[in-house]
Amino acid sequence: MINCDVIIVGAGPYGLSVAHHLRTVKGLDVRVFGEPMSFWEQNMPVGMFLRSNWTATQIADLEGRLTLEAFQKATGRRFSLPVPLDDFVQYGLWYQRQAVPDVDRRSVVRVEADSSGFLVHLADGQVWGAQRVVIAAGIASFARRPPEFDHLPPELATHSSVHRDFSRFAGKKVLVVGGGQSALESGALLHEAGADVEVVTRASKINWLQGFLSKALHHRMGKFVRSLLYAPTDVGPAGISQLLARPDLVRRLPRTLQDKLRRRATRPAGARWLVTRLKDVPMCLRCTVDSVSVVGEQVQIQLSNGALRLVDHVLLGTGYKIDVSKYSFLAPGLLGAIRRSNGFPILKEGLETSVPRLHILGAPAAWSFGPLMQFVSGSRYASGALFRSVTGRDPDPLQTT
Ligand SMILES: Cc1cc2nc3c(=O)[nH]c(=O)nc-3n(C[C@H](O)[C@H](O)[C@H](O)COP(=O)(O)OP(=O)(O)OC[C@H]3O[C@@H](n4cnc5c(N)ncnc54)[C@H](O)[C@@H]3O)c2cc1C
Repeated sequence: MINCDVIIVGAGPYGLSVAHHLRTVKGLDVRVFGEPMSFWEQNMPVGMFLRSNWTATQIADLEGRLTLEAFQKATGRRFSLPVPLDDFVQYGLWYQRQAVPDVDRRSVVRVEADSSGFLVHLADGQVWGAQRVVIAAGIASFARRPPEFDHLPPELATHSSVHRDFSRFAGKKVLVVGGGQSALESGALLHEAGADVEVVTRASKINWLQGFLSKALHHRMGKFVRSLLYAPTDVGPAGISQLLARPDLVRRLPRTLQDKLRRRATRPAGARWLVTRLKDVPMCLRCTVDSVSVVGEQVQIQLSNGALRLVDHVLLGTGYKIDVSKYSFLAPGLLGAIRRSNGFPILKEGLETSVPRLHILGAPAAWSFGPLMQFVSGSRYASGALFRSVTGRDPDPLQTT
């Protein structure tokens, strides 16, 4: 067995950023396991754009050397807003090469507690011991698939997260279920790939982020007023955005208010730049799926408005439901010791679970620290909080101990 101080499970924006911060602590042996940026590279469609703004798309780094601008300068890649998926993936991989070049790409299959800390088992059978474990394993395990579709094989119904390339749907009839960014952007990409697409959503209207009216208003507001109302983290509407940028404040609010804020900031919505791309895609609003049956090689859907659809494929843009029990690598004993609420771990300062020295970052931290944790821009808060929890002081780019 090999021993180290800290093991980080996951090499996405959160895992990389935390590793970069903790690696500045002299003498601390920090290891990172996981395929860098794999969720973005394998579970999001080619042609996608990031919804977050420029500052909110930066993975947190200590000295401001690993910014999008620095990446562009170092590699000669040119892109602007909205940031294309491939450029963001390349940025993340560049960040990883600069900050954590020795990421170990092996998967973690089991994390369990032992007398001196934790045992971390890798896919090839190797076992590591660590005093502290940081789980930054993302949301891939939490894809929400409505039970009505359980009996359908993957040829007939899939979650949006399994697709990289929609070209195989050219000439096919595809029904997209959902009214958030994933569903809407999948609808646009499917249409552009030559599929005959319809989007069905239970919502009575599509929420467009910064619709044309609010964009015009924003423009008139001027930079100063805008910066008062919107934090650079780009999570949540005017005013609320500033509050959500301060997780230490958010976690002190009454629980009902925290839940309300989280729901408001992450309600299904589509980016403004999808409006024109979806103008020829029919949308059935206030529509839910009543029943689903297989007819030959197609799927028949009975909608709540009485209409029937016969399609070649159903794409579930139905989002993600956090439930850390779906992290299959957590040993039952360890999982049982993590205090949870509705699938989320209940975290204290330093994003630490009720198991001492076991931390969970990213979207599962949203119940305790607010919706900022569901976005790349939350990596700054999470990395700083972890650093404080480990060292008892704030991270300082100039002073590494
Ligand atoms: C379609 C879509 C669009 C999005 N757009 C945006 C956006 O524009 N802006 C934004 O801020 N956020 C966006 N998000 C949210 C985004 O998922 C998070 O912001 C971001 O991925 C959080 O980073 P993370 O490090 O927590 O997780 P991830 O990026 O998911 O990284 C988790 C890592 O853990 C690794 N891992 C998992 N299990 C194991 C294991 N057992 N062993 C080893 N490694 C493991 C994975 O390989 C992966 O590399 C989007 C999400 C979706 C689904």
